[in-house]
Amino acid sequence: MMKGIKENLQEIQSTLPENVTLVAVSKTKPIADLQEAYDAGQRVFGENKIQEMVAKYDELPKDIQWHMIGHLQSNKVKYMAHFVDLIHGVDSFKTLKEIDKQAKKHNRVINCLLQARIAKEDTKFGLPFSEIEAILASDELKELQNIKVVGLMGMATFTDNQEQLEEEFSSLSSFFNQNKKTYPDLTILSMGMSGDYELAIKNGSNMVRIGSSIFGVRNYIA
Ligand SMILES: *Cc1c(COP(=O)(O)O)cnc(C)c1O
Repeated sequence: MMKGIKENLQEIQSTLPENVTLVAVSKTKPIADLQEAYDAGQRVFGENKIQEMVAKYDELPKDIQWHMIGHLQSNKVKYMAHFVDLIHGVDSFKTLKEIDKQAKKHNRVINCLLQARIAKEDTKFGLPFSEIEAILASDELKELQNIKVVGLMGMATFTDNQEQLEEEFSSLSSFFNQNKKTYPDLTILSMGMSGDYELAIKNGSNMVRIGSSIFGVRNYIA
């Protein structure tokens, strides 16, 4: 028998250090599942498709913090600009500019994470460290008044190889710690999913994005 969403959440929460934020990744899951997590106290949810997130935002209580964790299509940023709390997967300056433009229309400042490429496989999105440094140091970034880069995000290779995972997480973690000294706004390091979050936390993550361990496996056919 599968345990319930509430039990899964409590079990995970009980193992997380106090400084680690749990993002409940609810993509593909029905409103009822999110409501169940909400009723159990969860307030931070992650989605990877803008339209799906907007539909859920419209239905659910307004004290939820919505995180966009998927790859962004610039032309859709406008649909979530009035409510999104944190955008994890920013991987170009062009996207930052678009987020800034849309945030300005709502008189908001939208928090963003730059996505770093740490996985060996080339299917993963993200910026090389050198490009992240270039963006952080650029004068153009200072001109964007309606976004704030508050940290970095990374996705490790999909593998069981613990050494490789550890290497990928620790490389991002040291890069993050180094840049934090120069850019004190960088406070969030988002890394770790259902299969690897314990290792990610061990290597310095303070925000984990967990889906299937809370809501069960996703059924993409449905
Ligand atoms: C789906 C997804 C997750 C959660 O994956 P699980 O393995 O179900 O925990 C985390 N991060 C991103 C970017 C995702 O797309």
